[in-house]
Amino acid sequence: MASSILIVEDEPSIAELISVNLSHEGFLPVRAFQADQAAMLMKEVLPDLIVLDWMLPGKSGIQFAKDIRNNERTKDIPIIFLTARAEEMDKIAGLDAGADDYLTKPFSPKELVARIRAILRRKSPQLNDDVMEINLLKLDPATHRVIFQGDSPQKIDLGPTEFRLLRFLMANPERVHARGQLLDKVWGDHVFVEERTVDVHIKRLRAALAPVGCETMIETVRGSGYRLTRNPAIIS
Ligand code: CA
Repeated sequence: MASSILIVEDEPSIAELISVNLSHEGFLPVRAFQADQAAMLMKEVLPDLIVLDWMLPGKSGIQFAKDIRNNERTKDIPIIFLTARAEEMDKIAGLDAGADDYLTKPFSPKELVARIRAILRRKSPQLNDDVMEINLLKLDPATHRVIFQGDSPQKIDLGPTEFRLLRFLMANPERVHARGQLLDKVWGDHVFVEERTVDVHIKRLRAALAPVGCETMIETVRGSGYRLTRNPAIIS
C-alpha cells in the first residue's frame, strides 16, 4: 500500500514539483497550502509523513510542527522541513521544533524522495516491505502471505484488514496500541470508523490464528487496547 505524504507548501510550483515526483515514486501525495488546511485534513486521515515548508502564510511551519508534536494523536508522524534558510541557528530551531530532517531550497526532488524513504524505513517499520518473523509466524508484505512455520508449515488466510492489522502489530510488537491509534495506523481514519470495528477485526484475526495456536499472541490490555507479544500469558 502506498505511503501517504502530506505536503504543506504555499508555493504552487514547488508543491506541484514535489507532488509529481512523489506520485511517480509510488507515494500518495496530499497537498495543503497552509497549516490550518493541513490540520483539517489530518483530522480525518493521518499521513505517514509530512513535508513542511518553514515559511507559510498564517501559522508558520515551526509553530505547526510544534502543534503536531504536542498532540498525542499526531506526535509520532515524521516531519521533513523545507526552507530557504540555511543558517545553522535555523536548522537547530527546526530540529528543536520536532523535525526529523531538513532540506534547504532549492533541493533536488530525488534527494527529497531518498530522505523520505530513509525516514519511513527508520520510523515506520510497518510501511516497508521487509519480511517479518515473530515466533513461528512469518509475514511477507510483498506477497501478502502469512505462514505458520511449524513442523508442517501452514498458510494462514486473512482478509485485507486483518492482514494490515497483523502487519502493524508485528512491526510494533510488545507495545500496547489503543483502539484510536489502530484506527489511525491501520484504517487511516478515526473519524468515520467506530472503535468497535477494531474489536471485530481483532476477533477475526484471532480466529484465523487459532488453528495454529497463535491467537494468544494477540493480547487484550484492559482499558488500554491491544498488543502482539512474543510471550503470551498462559491462560489456565
Ligand atoms: Ca513558503
